[in-house]
Amino acid sequence: MIPFEKLTAPTRLYINGEYQDAEGGARFDNINPATGESLGQVAKGTATDIDRAVKAARAAFESSTWANLAAADRERLLHRLADMIEHNTDTLAALETYDTGKPFGDARKIDLPLSVQTLRYYAGWPTKLRGETVPVRGPFLTYTIREPIGVIGQIVPWNFPLFMAVMKLAPALAAGNTVVLKPAEQTPLTALYLGQFLAEVGFPPGVVNIVSGMGTEAGEALINHPGVDKIAFTGSTGTGQHIMRQAAGTLKRISLELGGKSPHIIFADADLKAAMRAVGAAIFYNQGEVCIAGSRLFVEKPLYEQALEAATQAAARLKVGDPFAEDTRVGALVSEQHWKRVDEYVKLGVSEGARVVAGGAPADVGGRGYFYQPTVLAGVTNNMRVAQEEIFGPVLAVIPFEDEADLLAQANDSQYGLAAGLWTQNLGKAHRIARALKAGTVYINAYGMMDPAAPFGGYKMSGLGRENGEEGIAMYTEIKTVWTSLK
Ligand code: NAP
Ligand code: MG
Repeated sequence: MIPFEKLTAPTRLYINGEYQDAEGGARFDNINPATGESLGQVAKGTATDIDRAVKAARAAFESSTWANLAAADRERLLHRLADMIEHNTDTLAALETYDTGKPFGDARKIDLPLSVQTLRYYAGWPTKLRGETVPVRGPFLTYTIREPIGVIGQIVPWNFPLFMAVMKLAPALAAGNTVVLKPAEQTPLTALYLGQFLAEVGFPPGVVNIVSGMGTEAGEALINHPGVDKIAFTGSTGTGQHIMRQAAGTLKRISLELGGKSPHIIFADADLKAAMRAVGAAIFYNQGEVCIAGSRLFVEKPLYEQALEAATQAAARLKVGDPFAEDTRVGALVSEQHWKRVDEYVKLGVSEGARVVAGGAPADVGGRGYFYQPTVLAGVTNNMRVAQEEIFGPVLAVIPFEDEADLLAQANDSQYGLAAGLWTQNLGKAHRIARALKAGTVYINAYGMMDPAAPFGGYKMSGLGRENGEEGIAMYTEIKTVWTSLK
């Protein structure tokens, strides 16, 4: 375990290529959720700081050093940034663990490699972004160009702080935009750390600006700033709706990756052993603080008791503990507020008629920190609030179903549509159900995979637009059509 002091994390805003204080020296306490103690103070960006950052991003967007940079050189910058992150894996994983409470092993083996892979994937795109020639009527040569949109405001959550930041930065930069990034107030450290790398690998000043602070202050200033051309957001559906309303004023482009209440489905003809191995990870990985968490477990009636028993055992087996301990599988929830909210949801479930068959209470880890026991609720019906609302914690609701029709009616009865998983050994049924589920991602006999090449996003109130893959970079471009007379 690397002591926090040894990590020398920057705690000031990164604007126009330099670390600087927030206006008036404003700062806020950054809490380690595994201990409840402060890790120190971090700059609290104000509307004035956002304005400075947006102006720096605008100047960088217009400057020839960025606008005229060859696509191959943008590729090189992105690879170099990936190299820096890769070489600093242990430091960044440790910072992420102190900031979020997630297990260090997960940060090292999942968050960091995903961040590197995403940068490398999008590093390949600047040289492949092309327009088309269009077969129009008349003596014209008509073609399209894909241009960057301009200044992008990016707002990210606390569950995968570095990976979420990189997932937004990589396609935006690959397409030639400039960025003002606001990390979540609970987890600002890894994003601020990137500033050093950006400068060192040679991104021109102002191309990426990182402003830590509150959503209600820095975030608000960013979404309302007339100099911002697009907002890319990941977080709660409520904040996403607010951003969409605010964007109407200047018709900012928006892309939103929001909440989920994803159905994880086990049919009676499933390979139950394989399914049950996946069910635990699908909900308890990262303390359940995952937008695609398989939080509603639907089990076909003949298997219900058996599956419930297996889920209960999986929950009881997982070690909740010090995020830096090697055998820890479930760390601390991100904040005291979120921890209390998760517990309130469990109590609500009980008051709605659900039965706690595993967990159901905070976990004691040395008498401090915001730990919660992996929890399984039985006797849940899909209309209960614990089956309809995103808890974003280690809480699984188990729901029986009769047949395909009953399953689809229940699984699709949700305001969300981010992901779904299903287990069956019947190939035709698997694809039939995959087609009928209203979700942006469907896993068949698997759950939770993510890859920068695979489009990712939500149906319904789970979002707008798709990240990753070609779609993920297309949404950071405008298409210009050029008509040329051949006369
Ligand atoms: P949130 O409020 O939506 O926060 C996400 C980001 O938006 C943070 O950077 C936040 O800043 C910022 N923000 C908040 N209010 C804003 C505003 N008015 N204008 C601009 N930016 C604003 O989510 P949360 O409160 O951290 O978490 C609440 C719930 O959201 C969770 O329990 C979960 O259900 C859901 N969630 C979903 C995802 C996902 O990946 N889909 C991720 C995280 C959370 P601050 O940090 O300063 O508030
Ligand atoms: Mg923190």
